[in-house]
Amino acid sequence: MTGNIIGHFINGETVKDSAQTQDVYNPSTGEVSKQVSLASKATVEQAITAAQKAFPGWRNTPPLKRARIMFRFKELLEQNADKITKLIGEEHGKILHDARGELQRGIEVVEYACGAPELLKGEYTKNVGTNIDAWSDFQPLGVVAGITPFNFPAMVPLWMFPMAIVCGNTFVLKPSERDPSSTLYIAELLHEAGLPKGVMNVVNGGKEAVDTLLHDPIVQAISFVGSTPIAEYIYKTAAANGKRCQALGGAKNHAIIMPDADLDNVVSSLLGAAFGSSGERCMALSVAVTIGDEMADKLIQELTQAMKKLKLGAYSEMSNDFGPVITKQHKDKIIGHITSAEQQGAKIIVDGRQTQVSGYENGFYVGATLIDHVKPDMDSYKAEIFGPVLQVIRVNTMEEAMKLINDHEYGNGTCIYTRDGEAARYFCDNILVGMVGVNIPLPVPVAYHSFGGWKRSLFGDLHIYGPDGVRFYTRRKTVTQRWPSSGVREGSQFSMPTL
Ligand code: NAD
Repeated sequence: MTGNIIGHFINGETVKDSAQTQDVYNPSTGEVSKQVSLASKATVEQAITAAQKAFPGWRNTPPLKRARIMFRFKELLEQNADKITKLIGEEHGKILHDARGELQRGIEVVEYACGAPELLKGEYTKNVGTNIDAWSDFQPLGVVAGITPFNFPAMVPLWMFPMAIVCGNTFVLKPSERDPSSTLYIAELLHEAGLPKGVMNVVNGGKEAVDTLLHDPIVQAISFVGSTPIAEYIYKTAAANGKRCQALGGAKNHAIIMPDADLDNVVSSLLGAAFGSSGERCMALSVAVTIGDEMADKLIQELTQAMKKLKLGAYSEMSNDFGPVITKQHKDKIIGHITSAEQQGAKIIVDGRQTQVSGYENGFYVGATLIDHVKPDMDSYKAEIFGPVLQVIRVNTMEEAMKLINDHEYGNGTCIYTRDGEAARYFCDNILVGMVGVNIPLPVPVAYHSFGGWKRSLFGDLHIYGPDGVRFYTRRKTVTQRWPSSGVREGSQFSMPTL
């Protein structure tokens, strides 16, 4: 298997550090396809040193030149889209059309980063005092790091490094060890686009690699995306070490189905939002909150019919709707959540626990599952299941539904289905969630806004990519300047200067 060991990308070169390795699976077949090196502390330090050496030159490269490299990178991502999506499918299991969608959303961040000269323009005021001018400019931080989850191996890294790099920083990325190949390939394409050596580095690994990034004094900032317990650990450790940090965590996204909602639209869009990518999306809609029993009964009936047509199978078959989950352990965890809902009194309407895919009997498949009569105190409701499971909670009023959402520990995404503009407006204004949809089930902000949840779905002050991304990866410097003319000198002044 040595020929198939995935290494690291440091200072423009592939580095193998195979003292420790971990299996990488093809979840569609359940077979081990490769192994990935887990970087030692020394290997991570090698990447940090490369990034540190590259920083002075890159910092002083004009933003327009940085943007031109990003533009070439965007073209290479498009030209190599088939290869990237295949690498995603092989190791993650999502269907190729879904992988193409994730790549496209990542490319849109690169397009936004191409506007660097405009994004980095400062603020200028002439005559803040007599003959005194002031300006603010936005300077890069230095070496910054990103740590990313398995569920979007292309898109989530692309949320981070294009913005960081175009702002003049150098980068060390630690992708998920479960599906690292597409991420590594994308980093190589950035190098091919003309990026100087050492500006972008990738180290594969687990906790040792992450902890090295968290504790190394050269690393100025950490962007993290992953589960909430790890996000909290990352945020606290980074903050204790004086680093800037944005740590995006897990989710439990609710859709309120109002009695006046367009049911056909609700059913078709809920299917994609709950089961697309096997529910392994931080924006997946995993809870439908119905107002009134009449709407609940109709919804359950329509969903049950529609779910019979869903196609589950291997990543490579474009007609499949969704594929396997990431590992056997994760499959068992999802099944455990379904069983616990059943044991605690919920009703399993469509049961995906025993679902098999013919010809792929060892793949990590869980069929689409629908659970009714879920209650807020059930474990399956409190936890993030991260699988193809849609739970229905029945309430009587919109206020009750909103209280449920506002009381949940997570606040990533939510949506209301209604034809009532007043209700929708009230919902948007008062719901304690960072990303809100009105008749839009997956309200993932476009690249020129910013992405982030509230409550325990995000630790830190700024959201990721978009305008918040520019602020996260730069620090403001404000210069106040006077050039004395005609020999005029003010002399000492001991009170606070005022106009
Ligand atoms: P994870 O937390 O297990 O792993 C994320 C990263 O942290 C990986 O790179 C991993 O190697 C590293 N890591 C894992 N355990 C660690 C430890 N003990 N110490 C230090 N580092 C560690 O998450 P995952 O399973 O890869 O991804 C799924 C999770 O990510 C879900 O909870 C999902 O909601 C969340 N997610 C959130 C967003 C968002 O934008 N809020 C986006 C995508 C995924």
